[in-house]
Amino acid sequence: MTEKALRILLMGPPGCGKGTQASELKRLFSLPHVSSGDVLRGEVGRGSELGKKIKEFMDRGEIGPVELITGAIIGHLKNECADGFILDGFPRTLYQAEKLRENFNINFAFLIDVTGDAVANRIASRRICRGCGAIYSLNDNPPAKEGICDICGGEVYRRTDDNRDTIINRIRVYMEETKPVIEFYGKEGILHEIDGEKDRKSVFDGIISIIKDGVRA
Ligand code: AMP
Repeated sequence: MTEKALRILLMGPPGCGKGTQASELKRLFSLPHVSSGDVLRGEVGRGSELGKKIKEFMDRGEIGPVELITGAIIGHLKNECADGFILDGFPRTLYQAEKLRENFNINFAFLIDVTGDAVANRIASRRICRGCGAIYSLNDNPPAKEGICDICGGEVYRRTDDNRDTIINRIRVYMEETKPVIEFYGKEGILHEIDGEKDRKSVFDGIISIIKDGVRA
């Protein structure tokens, strides 16, 4: 790990735009974007021991075996992200926030806030590329050719856990388990709230101006 490492957390309810903002930040800062959901979907896809243990929890939108998952994500960060990272989807519980603090100094935690209604609509219209992970919205940013990624030509699909029952569960988990994490970063003095109902460029500009001010300070 280097002194100058920049470590950014993106938090907010499912569908708030964390993934979209993270991929823009990745491009700007040339830092790895780690989505805990993507790392875990990768484990499930490979059929690893961890993947077998977490699949049913992911299908239901639940947290699952928190110590195993925490160990896997922190291990991934230690191995792949020595110069910093943009992390989304983790930490989701206070236990994960404490383990993260034991291992890394986080510079910025952004809460991208949106209301329940906006969340359900965004998730229902969200589509993802199986090849490169690009995120589309059927409402305001559909792929030019239906079902095909503009960037890599991969298949654009709907996540199986982007269904109504699972979404309700994921929002409940967020309210019960992840809200305390937001307070945790408030107390740490690194929390910045961003209005996630604005368009994606305004959200991005808001994040960037805070990072620039923080880096200058
Ligand atoms: P996401 O892609 O962030 O919406 O996450 C999809 C699913 O992966 C969640 O509903 C959880 O089942 C699981 N997951 C993702 N991140 C975590 C985490 N930090 N801790 C536990 N489970 C997670």
